[in-house]
Amino acid sequence: MIENNLKIVFEKIHDSVEKSKRNFGDIRIVAISKTNPISSILEGLKVGITNFGENKAIEFRDKSKLIIADLVWHFVGHLQRNKVKYVINAAEYIHSVESFKLAEEINKRAKTIGKVQNIFFEVNTSNEESKFGLSNYDELCELVKRCEELSNIQMCGLMTMASFTSNETELRKNFSSLREMRDKINNKTKSISELSMGMTNDYPIAIEEGATILRIGTAIFGKRDTSLTWSEK
Ligand SMILES: *Cc1c(COP(=O)(O)O)cnc(C)c1O
Repeated sequence: MIENNLKIVFEKIHDSVEKSKRNFGDIRIVAISKTNPISSILEGLKVGITNFGENKAIEFRDKSKLIIADLVWHFVGHLQRNKVKYVINAAEYIHSVESFKLAEEINKRAKTIGKVQNIFFEVNTSNEESKFGLSNYDELCELVKRCEELSNIQMCGLMTMASFTSNETELRKNFSSLREMRDKINNKTKSISELSMGMTNDYPIAIEEGATILRIGTAIFGKRDTSLTWSEK
């Protein structure tokens, strides 16, 4: 099933890439495996997926310990400071930094294990109350500036979750506002170039608006079954 789903995702990406005159190679897919069992991740690896993402710290820790394979782990969910210790070892990228306190904790933990942690700043472009992230460009600027003194983090880019809607105009507005912030901030600090945006329901639009990393769960693994935990499946 995963192989076939992936094929469909690839086709859609190709269409959007063509439409927006971008390069397929400039877009990375992170397969969001949350709630799915280890067997699904192994199946994904077998059909060529190399980047996987989780949104819960404990689930991330357990899965990343259980799977011995050459893969790139992304942590994409809301992260509390006291849970940084669960993700710091395996996460190649943390997508959800939204405060200096969190960045400081990541920096401290990264230093202890001798690593430079790649991070994204999460921006709440939809202004929905339920969403996490920085609320505007000024907050982002200030956080970026303060993070420059942290030697064990590498700022890679910006991340957002778009509105929970099928309204294309609104989705486009969310994504383009993240891109505009990236363009502005990137003038000052060259390395902040990545745009982590686009999920199952909106990734074709995200590509048209400049996404470099797509976080896709349902379209790859199927509808999430929440009646059992991932370890019971
Ligand atoms: C679950 C999740 C996704 C993927 O969602 P789908 O709609 O299943 O593709 C992407 N990003 C984050 C932060 C998530 O929690």
